[in-house]
Amino acid sequence: MARALLLSSLLATTASFQWLVVGGGPQGVHVAGRLLREVDGLALDDVCIVDDEDALLRKWKTRAENTGMRYLRSPASLHLGDGERELLRHAEAHAPRIDKREPPFAPDYARPRLDVFNDHCDFLVDAHGLAAAHRRGEVVAVADAGDAYAVTVRRAGGDETLRAANVVLAVGGGAPAYPAWARGSAAVSHVFDDGFALGGGRVAVVGGGLSAAHLALRLGGRVDVVCRHGLREQQFDTHQDWMATAAARRLMGKGPTDRQVSFAGIADVAERRRVVRRERRSGTVPAAASRGRRGLKYAIASGDVRWHEADVAALRDAGRRRRPRADDGRRRSGTRVVLATGFGAGPPARPLVDAAARGLGAALAPCGYPVPGLAGSAGTTAGRARSPPGARGARARAVRAEPRRRAPRVGRIVAARGGVVTGGSPVFNINC
Ligand SMILES: Cc1cc2nc3c(=O)[nH]c(=O)nc-3n(C[C@H](O)[C@H](O)[C@H](O)COP(=O)(O)OP(=O)(O)OC[C@H]3O[C@@H](n4cnc5c(N)ncnc54)[C@H](O)[C@@H]3O)c2cc1C
Repeated sequence: MARALLLSSLLATTASFQWLVVGGGPQGVHVAGRLLREVDGLALDDVCIVDDEDALLRKWKTRAENTGMRYLRSPASLHLGDGERELLRHAEAHAPRIDKREPPFAPDYARPRLDVFNDHCDFLVDAHGLAAAHRRGEVVAVADAGDAYAVTVRRAGGDETLRAANVVLAVGGGAPAYPAWARGSAAVSHVFDDGFALGGGRVAVVGGGLSAAHLALRLGGRVDVVCRHGLREQQFDTHQDWMATAAARRLMGKGPTDRQVSFAGIADVAERRRVVRRERRSGTVPAAASRGRRGLKYAIASGDVRWHEADVAALRDAGRRRRPRADDGRRRSGTRVVLATGFGAGPPARPLVDAAARGLGAALAPCGYPVPGLAGSAGTTAGRARSPPGARGARARAVRAEPRRRAPRVGRIVAARGGVVTGGSPVFNINC
């Protein structure tokens, strides 16, 4: 009797979904919205987004705000909705509630202002009622349970198991990267840390990409930047060919770019990874942040920002002042050290992906990323997530999204990172 009661209470706490999306960042929100729009008969109740934050898109918003960025790096055509012009139209339609003190889109590439971009994100979340699909918790395992997947979710009140016919991993780039010399020091924080605050006093920023540039410009007059290389300018953090969406190319009367075609033709996963690595241009800064009187070049020339080309080797504790010491032996002054070193270089969500691969009896690519088709049979999914943070390319890593009961028209969401994702058509992802 006690056993029967226990079983029934367990069953009562186990909900079932058609689609379970792990991660409620830009990719997860885009995928969920797209499923609801494109899969016939799919209702909000059929979809669950598990995210460990208290609200959807929380991580993206917090990190973007931490850097102080005012405009996105990517153009207006990259967003969480559909179509080249949706974000532009949204800004027009909701013009009265959009602050006009600064242009809603930057003159170069119509890059959206951060709050305009986020307003559109929130609009989409509301339009689909996605907040109701959000379940707060951390997914720690995915296993095959016969006619569905069993997804273990760690929640504040204890673990629960959810059942889902399809599971999409959209877990982002992982934790902020802390170099060995910075680990464990209370004097060091990362700009992408939860609860990051700039504070007063002199700051040493370590890093040389766009986040470091934003921080340096915010801190002008009290900042040293330590970076392995000089200031490197590039509009996007990969070649523009990867930015071209199929719809934009069609508008131009053209097909995919040569890079996209060539990538789509590569079947070998190790080679694909090599191409992704080669094509990424991390540690670069677009012209809008480097040029002009408000740009970084001017700030460096005028002494407002002190740029040191060196690799930080250690952190010296000098009483209350922490000084990163570079490999040239010289010390950089600074009361606090802020890392703008991006995310770890390896595949993110490693324990989860490993556990899922084990649970599904599937192999991973040599680089540790899921392989399209990871779970066997017909393969992973791949939506053309509209990016802001990149969704149109995608950081979505789908362990498996092969529909078991209903065939979605979304296409296939693919496992990839660093921007080049395919499911027939390569797409691009900007990861700053
Ligand atoms: C400062 C900054 C500026 C950027 N600017 C641009 C730009 O201009 N244009 C552009 O295209 N891109 C930009 N990017 C990149 C962009 O933010 C990322 O590509 C995008 O956020 C990736 O979205 P995501 O949903 O994959 O990941 P995330 O935003 O990281 O979201 C993943 C979510 O999944 C959750 N999660 C992870 N693991 C689990 C788990 N096991 N269980 C439950 N939840 C989990 C995380 O907590 C998080 O909420 C920028 C990034 C930063 C940091």
